[in-house]
Amino acid sequence: MKVQVIPALQDNYMYLIIDEDTREAAAVDPVHPSEILRAVKESDCKLTKVLTTHHHWDHAGGNKQICCEVPGLQVFGGDDRIDSLTCKVEHGSVINMGSLKIECLFTPCHTLGHICYFVTKNGTQPAVFTGDTLFSAGCGRFFEGTAKQMHTALNGILAQLPDETKVYCGHEYTVDNLKFALTVEPKNNATKEKFEWACCRRQNNLPTVPSSISEEKLFNPFMRVCEPEIKEYTEKCDPVEVMGCLRSRKDVFKA
Ligand SMILES: [Zn+2]
Repeated sequence: MKVQVIPALQDNYMYLIIDEDTREAAAVDPVHPSEILRAVKESDCKLTKVLTTHHHWDHAGGNKQICCEVPGLQVFGGDDRIDSLTCKVEHGSVINMGSLKIECLFTPCHTLGHICYFVTKNGTQPAVFTGDTLFSAGCGRFFEGTAKQMHTALNGILAQLPDETKVYCGHEYTVDNLKFALTVEPKNNATKEKFEWACCRRQNNLPTVPSSISEEKLFNPFMRVCEPEIKEYTEKCDPVEVMGCLRSRKDVFKA
């Protein structure tokens, strides 16, 4: 499996997932179709699928145009509000693409129809495309859902994926997320090291994706809601209340 990271708009990421056995490809959140189609051409693959994480314009806004340019394209997603949706999926739906297996994980909260896509192939490192649910060192705003839903999404579903799973998220927010993470856990060495690394990557105009599930567990406060330091910071004990408190403090945090 090959994954190409393609920046779009201000700080969005689109991805092209290529099955190297059949040269079939899927585009994740192709908001800027011409950039995706150029990558498809350069990689000499055949685009057959669009995987939409959620209906927001900066993720689904290119669906209509890309469907016009690529007849027969299948558009997957978990929300009727997604433009040009052809295949509605739910938790546990499986999409096969050549030798790749794409499993749909229902992770409502940022929006109520949000889907993450977990991609595996025998003998290779798995990958998960997390849209605006899990960011590196952070998570999406709770626009339509609750702290309980985000806790289930992050710690009930995504944290249970294999530790080595690569995480490809929807935005480049890592440096700002780590600034917040450092105020939550100023003594966390993993957070400090990741912050220095991420600053250096961004200074060189390089992406900070992918991270991995095991890494996120070390420095992402929203995936550490049971850690004593985080409980202390939020002055809460119940993981859902810790989650809610972290999110409301992050909402007003000025990086
Ligand atoms: Zn969004």
